[in-house]
Amino acid sequence: MIPASLDFDTAVVGAGVVGVAAGAALAATGRSVVVFETRDGIAQIGTSRNSEVIHAGIYYPKQSLKATLCRRGSDLLYARCEARRVGHKRIGKLIVATCDEEIPKLEALLSAARENDVPDISMIDAAEIARLEPDVAGVAALHSRATGIVDAHGLCLSYLAEMEEHGGTLLVDHKVTVLNREPDHWRVVVRTRAGEGDEQTLRCHEVVNAAGLEADQVAKRAGVDIDAAGYRIYLCKGDYFALAPGADVKLKQLVYPVGSASGAGLGVHATLDLAGRVRFGPDAHYVSDIDYQVDGTKASAFADAAARYLPAMRAEWLTPDFAGIRSKLAAEGSGFRDFVVGEESDKGLPGLVSCVGIESPGLTASGAIAERVVGLLDAR
Ligand SMILES: Cc1cc2nc3c(=O)[nH]c(=O)nc-3n(C[C@H](O)[C@H](O)[C@H](O)COP(=O)(O)OP(=O)(O)OC[C@H]3O[C@@H](n4cnc5c(N)ncnc54)[C@H](O)[C@@H]3O)c2cc1C
Repeated sequence: MIPASLDFDTAVVGAGVVGVAAGAALAATGRSVVVFETRDGIAQIGTSRNSEVIHAGIYYPKQSLKATLCRRGSDLLYARCEARRVGHKRIGKLIVATCDEEIPKLEALLSAARENDVPDISMIDAAEIARLEPDVAGVAALHSRATGIVDAHGLCLSYLAEMEEHGGTLLVDHKVTVLNREPDHWRVVVRTRAGEGDEQTLRCHEVVNAAGLEADQVAKRAGVDIDAAGYRIYLCKGDYFALAPGADVKLKQLVYPVGSASGAGLGVHATLDLAGRVRFGPDAHYVSDIDYQVDGTKASAFADAAARYLPAMRAEWLTPDFAGIRSKLAAEGSGFRDFVVGEESDKGLPGLVSCVGIESPGLTASGAIAERVVGLLDAR
């Protein structure tokens, strides 16, 4: 139920990692905050379907939001995990070149990493790869010791706890169906049961759109011309396959191929979770609908991709695990698009902050995105 007073300083749309991080940061400033979530719990969409990697910030163009918010977010994330006892591990990552022709790609990534002030990264040779990861074959690799993994749900619970400590309110099973800019406030209409149930209206001064895959539709509802703004979201699916526990491949850290990274993804890589389970993925293919089925027939293609850097890999060790869907601003085949984290006064929508296209490294960057949201609203 919505509390008796229907007035809040700030309403946040969506309780994925971006929404709860923004809710925590906004509540900590003394604002009264409500976070609305369509689902019956937090972090059930993008935030629960990813690699849970704490990225170091290697891949993104210098001074892009992806680069700066990832770097800052990674520092904030490690500090938060320590302070609030969120499960995490700084396990490190290898980006592997499997032939001499791929070494220039590693060198380009190393210089991008240096431009982005990524700490603890260096080039290593085949002997060092073999020492660190005996099952991995490569002629050279980048070794990023600042890359880690995190319990994404635990991270969201830590943001939620912080928000509630500062008096913020989470309302699940409340879909935001209307966002109207009135002369001196926002009118927000919410409905239960995925938008089909009871309706309530409240007023607030500020709105944060953190609706993930639906952020373009929420922006449209708020009055943004999403094509003119470049906010249309394209769905890009990534499947994961789990490595059977008995498989004869052991890994201690994350392993990525340098060769197959594309604009849409980083190539089929090996990730570990906090329990030590290995999975491969995600691949990247644009889709028109949201469907989380994993196509089991892709096991041999995944095994072939992984065998380039893990020669012992066999398809029968792989079983379909889960899929995630990236909220991309870049249409298929088009170039780099940055995160949008912007205040919309210039569109005649003061007090609205749009977080759109928050694909990877959005989990890593969540704390820094939240800082930026607060900064934009404070600067109005
Ligand atoms: C395959 C894949 C792998 C990834 N790997 C990594 C990684 O290793 N590291 C990393 O840093 N990042 C990674 N990411 C990116 C990361 O998962 C996302 O950036 C992050 O989870 C986005 O969070 P969000 O809060 O914006 O969206 P979501 O988690 O999707 O949350 C949005 C929420 O808004 C709610 N909502 C939508 N519309 C409304 C409405 N009208 N009213 C109320 N609620 C609404 C939804 O129900 C949802 O809960 C990966 C992403 C994918 C797809």
